[in-house]
Amino acid sequence: MSDLNLEHWWQPFTNVRAFREQPRIFSRAAGSFLYRDDGQDVLDITAGLWCCNLGHGRREIADAVQQQLMELDYAPPFQFGTAPAFRFAERLVKHCPDGIGRVFFTNSGSEAVDTALKIAYSYQHARGKAEKRRFISRQQGYHGVNVGGTSLQGLPNNRQGFPVLAEVDFLPGLLDIERNAFSRGCPKFGTQEMLKSFEEIVAVRGADKICAVIIEPISGAGGMLPPPIDYLKTIRELCDKHDILLIFDEVITGFGRTGSAFAANEFGVTPDMITAAKAINGGTVPMGAVLLKDSIQQVIFDHASTSAPEFFHGNTYAGSPVAAAAGLAALDIYESEQLFTCGSGAKGQYWADTLHAMSDLPQVIDIRNYGLLGAVSFDHAELPEKTLGPKIHQRCLDNGLLCRAVGDHMVMSPPLSITEQEIDLFAERFRRSVKQVLA
Ligand code: PMP
Repeated sequence: MSDLNLEHWWQPFTNVRAFREQPRIFSRAAGSFLYRDDGQDVLDITAGLWCCNLGHGRREIADAVQQQLMELDYAPPFQFGTAPAFRFAERLVKHCPDGIGRVFFTNSGSEAVDTALKIAYSYQHARGKAEKRRFISRQQGYHGVNVGGTSLQGLPNNRQGFPVLAEVDFLPGLLDIERNAFSRGCPKFGTQEMLKSFEEIVAVRGADKICAVIIEPISGAGGMLPPPIDYLKTIRELCDKHDILLIFDEVITGFGRTGSAFAANEFGVTPDMITAAKAINGGTVPMGAVLLKDSIQQVIFDHASTSAPEFFHGNTYAGSPVAAAAGLAALDIYESEQLFTCGSGAKGQYWADTLHAMSDLPQVIDIRNYGLLGAVSFDHAELPEKTLGPKIHQRCLDNGLLCRAVGDHMVMSPPLSITEQEIDLFAERFRRSVKQVLA
C-alpha cells in the first residue's frame, strides 16, 4: 500500500519513526487470521487486542449491523430508547451472576471504568457516606486511559506524567511475590501475601473513607496472571466486612475468556459491578458497559431527590443501536457455538497442553494458562530487561504469528473459535520464532 500517507494518524503506543521505517499494515481478516498487505497470513493469537473472541469477519454480525444501520442508525440515548439496546441489556444480564441485572452502556473499556467509579461515588453519596471517596487498586492492574482509570493504573508507565486522583492505594500484584513456576490455572500460593496489606490500608485510611476496590480477576496487560486460589473470594469477604464496593474489571476476562461468560461466574464471586468492553460484540463496533447490581442502581434512584446530586453522566453513543445489534448477533454466536464455556472444555485442555509443552524452549522461566488465556515468560539473560519480548514479537510476526509482548512475557488470547489445527500452527510458528531469536 505504497499510496498510504503515514504522517497524519498518531497511533497509540507507537514509536512513530520506527513504524514509518517498517510499516505494519493489515488489509484483511477472516476467521483466526489477519492478512498483511503483501498477502502474508498472520495467525491472530491475540484475538486482535483481546477482543475478536469470535474470530474475524463473522457474516452474522456484519448482516445485523447493516440491517440496523438502514433501519435505525441512531437515536439520542438521553430520554429516548431503542429496542436493540434494551434487548441486548436483557440478554447480557442473563449471563451475569445473580443480582447483577442492570447495564450502563459506554463506548469503551476506559469509559466503563470511569463510569463505574462515578457510580460508586454516587452510590456512597446517596447512602449518606459521601466521605467514602478512596479507591483500592492492584499493582500490575490495567484500567484504561481516562483520568479515573489512569489513576488506578498499577502499571507505572501508564500513570507517570499525568495528573491523577491522589486517593488510590495499591495492593501487591502476583509477580511481586514469586514467579509461579509452570503452574496450570491458579497458583496455590500468594493469597495471604497479596492481601495482608488490605487490612493495613483500611487501618491507615479508615473504612469510612474507602469507596471501592477495583481489580482485574486475571491481570491481563500486567502479564496474564491468574489469581491465587481463594484470592477473589477473600477480597469479596474483606470488602463486605468493611462496607467497600467490589468492581471486577472484566474488559479482558469477560465473554468466555476464562471458560465462563465472566470470570465472576468462573471464580464463584459476585462483585457489585463488572466493567466490560472489547469482546462484548465480538470486537466489532466500539462498545463497553458497566454491569451492576440492581440494588446499587436502586439506591442511586431512590435518593435522587435528596441532597445527593443526580447521577448526571452519559455519552452520545451509549447503547448505540448499531453496537447493540452487533452485540445481539455476537451473543447468538457465543450461545449457539457454546463459546463461553469452551475454555473449560476440551479446547481449553488442548490449548493448555500445547502451551505447557513449550517448557523445553530456551530461557523459558514460566508458563501460565487459564481458559483461553496464556503466557510464556522468558529470562532475558544478558539482554536488557524487556527487550527480549519485543524481539520475539517481531520474529513471530515475520513468521506469520501475532502475539503480544508484555516486557519479556509473551501473552496470548486466541479467538474462542480457534481450531485445534490452528493451535498446532501457533505452536509451530511460536517455537520456530523463539528458536530463531535465541539460537
Ligand atoms: N480495563 C482493562 C482490564 C483492559 O485490558 C483495557 C484495555 N486493554 C481497558 C480497561 C480499557 O479498554 P479500552 O481500550 O476499550 O478503553
